[in-house]
Amino acid sequence: AKTREDKRYILFEPSMQAIIAERLQLETNLRQALYQGHFCNYYQPIVNLSTGHPVGFEVLARLHNPEQGWISPEKFIPVAEETGLINPLGWWVFDEACRQLKQWQKQFLDIPLVLNINVSPIQLKQSNFANRIRETLKKVNLEVHHFKLEITESSLLENFPVQTEQLFKLSSIQIPLCIDDFGTGFSSLSRLHEFPIATLKIDRSFIHQITTSPKHSSTVQMILALAKALDIDVVAEGIETMEQLEFLRDLGCEFGQGYFFSQPLDSGDASAYIKRLYQK
Ligand code: C2E
Ligand code: CA
Ligand code: CA
Ligand code: CA
Repeated sequence: AKTREDKRYILFEPSMQAIIAERLQLETNLRQALYQGHFCNYYQPIVNLSTGHPVGFEVLARLHNPEQGWISPEKFIPVAEETGLINPLGWWVFDEACRQLKQWQKQFLDIPLVLNINVSPIQLKQSNFANRIRETLKKVNLEVHHFKLEITESSLLENFPVQTEQLFKLSSIQIPLCIDDFGTGFSSLSRLHEFPIATLKIDRSFIHQITTSPKHSSTVQMILALAKALDIDVVAEGIETMEQLEFLRDLGCEFGQGYFFSQPLDSGDASAYIKRLYQK
């Protein structure tokens, strides 16, 4: 039979200890990074698949640590969510995106760029979330249609009343909502009627095997048919090859994003990208 000692041994197994230590270290790093300005935004183009023209960018947070170099959001976002740091971080990302968009509007007159902002379910627990979005836009003189908020399917689950309230407020201020990683969660389809959803982003796990797996390609076809019936735009995520692009275009998918078009770019490279594609 297992004794107390056994359990204690299991709990403090070195590998576990190392994981806990790494988490703590990361939490401390995140807190400092916010104060010291070590975060920056990267921008990945979202492209119209028939014209090849970008319609906007997804804003992706990056963390540069002076000692450890670049730290992936796959690592720091979960820690930020667990510690609540996702809230100040999320506002930093949004404020910075507003500043960048103002600069691009000044630099490239009349270019209709839209920025997609990732919003974690934790952020939607803030009772002032929708209000603060509206106030910020008013302050910097930008419109709701300059942005899309990317929320994950878990934000749509019925048993999150606080998030639901914010989603209703967001739709009342008419900021477009986008379901991220669509197909990987369990949101009930009926919820797609409840809030005006502007866009579905098909998770890249489906796109990855779209040309090789009939199961994946029929799932994508089904999502495209659903979106069409509901008059919702579709963005295919993670397009890496010409074959995937052509396959999706033939299925009638209108928008896409992925390394085939461009990696996420820092603001300087994103400016050069806009210049190249719009001003020729
Ligand atoms: P996501 O929202 O699904 O973002 C797309 C991710 O796919 C990005 O990873 C992007 O770099 C990557 N990607 C784009 N094209 C391709 C491709 O062709 N192939 C492959 N394999 N990957 C591609 P990234 O930047 O590492 O971000 C990871 C996740 O971290 C994001 O997934 C998002 O959930 C989260 N995240 C990033 N920035 C923020 C943020 O500002 N706020 C919040 N709440 N979450 C963020
Ligand atoms: Ca996203
Ligand atoms: Ca995604
Ligand atoms: Ca994801």
